[in-house]
Amino acid sequence: MQDRSDDSVVEKMNADGNAVAKANDQTILCHVGRETDAHYGAVNTPVYHASTILFPTLAAHDAKQDARVRYGRRGTPTQFSLEDAVSALEGAAGTVLTPSGAMAISTALLAFARAGAHYLIPDNVYGPCRHCCTEILKPLGVDVTYYDPAIGAGIADLMTPATRLIWMEAPGSQTFEMCDIGAIARVARERDVITVIDNTWAAGFYLKPLALGIDISLQAGTKYLSGHSDVMMGTLACASNIFPRIKDFAQRLGVCVGPDDAYLVNRGMRTLAVRMRQHNESAFQIALWLQSRPEVLKVLHPALPDDPGHFIWKEYFTGASGLFGFILKPVERSCLAKMLDDMKYFGMGASWGGYESLLIPTNPAPLRTATAWRPEGQSMRIHVGLEDTADLIADLEAGFERLAAAERKLANSMRRTL
Ligand SMILES: *Cc1c(COP(=O)(O)O)cnc(C)c1O
Repeated sequence: MQDRSDDSVVEKMNADGNAVAKANDQTILCHVGRETDAHYGAVNTPVYHASTILFPTLAAHDAKQDARVRYGRRGTPTQFSLEDAVSALEGAAGTVLTPSGAMAISTALLAFARAGAHYLIPDNVYGPCRHCCTEILKPLGVDVTYYDPAIGAGIADLMTPATRLIWMEAPGSQTFEMCDIGAIARVARERDVITVIDNTWAAGFYLKPLALGIDISLQAGTKYLSGHSDVMMGTLACASNIFPRIKDFAQRLGVCVGPDDAYLVNRGMRTLAVRMRQHNESAFQIALWLQSRPEVLKVLHPALPDDPGHFIWKEYFTGASGLFGFILKPVERSCLAKMLDDMKYFGMGASWGGYESLLIPTNPAPLRTATAWRPEGQSMRIHVGLEDTADLIADLEAGFERLAAAERKLANSMRRTL
């Protein structure tokens, strides 16, 4: 219904970088990065465990700089297969893999850091990104200004001659505020400022930042790309102007990922399209259901027409993922515990993007510095997994009933003590 991912047709490239055919993302994800002939016909690129790569002759050893496989840290066909899959998905010139999403963030932040440089970071940014700025960049002499995610083209007013990098996260993974990606990218382009977006929410499937002129699309591959809640991974999908720089920088830092992890994420990506479509549909259905509940003050989901980020979402995104927020009426912690402790399908835990559903209370307010986040109740974050939607709604409904019962009990005991 609100999935328009079929519109996002990406050109498939041959080895020389020429477009050979136009294929839909779903088709590309099934085929990219496979070299069946090189692996005895195996459908999936196998896991190569290798640090030392042996060269058969002195001549081959002398020419090793030209070999794609030359040392474990530089990757083997297992990692290359994943890099190629992410590049095809994001429409990138190349992709750098990192051992976590957090390291994709720190690598991108550090690659352009120098004393006196100025970075613009959205106030709704993922917490560890902010901590990296405060604890690592600031002592190096990088100035950071946090901006209101609703700023749009007004970002120009915050730029100085020292501005080198603008960060974006749309929507933010706690408050689901949108920033005007296209407007900010245009302003940045005019002034030759690097742009980076955290694209974890849309998984590179429902948003194509590089096509909007953004230099780096970053993801926690830990989330949707992997999709099974069992592996850590970061991806930096880069435009051609920036890829060699990021690749060299990451190599110098010694960044590399294990082949087992690369294999798992690559395997997860084969089903990304069908998973995302299901997350999109189920989450929207549950968002509508939550909107109808008296316990819920507000639902924070950009596909809802009354969401403040809806018009931006509609302009740039072709669908929505399974993660969104809602504001529950103010509740006692002990009553909330009665609801959450006994959920049948919704787990409580960090991370998201797996096949299973999650529900946690959040507290985004203390992190803000440029703008205030003042919800009128308890902020919640929900990840709608791939379970049957009716079962999930029944689970939430039973949870609300436990919450109401706990509140009645609390009110009664307070009446008795008066
Ligand atoms: C989880 C997450 C990250 C970090 O990924 P890890 O793999 O957990 O380090 C980065 N950005 C967003 C938006 C995330 O949700």
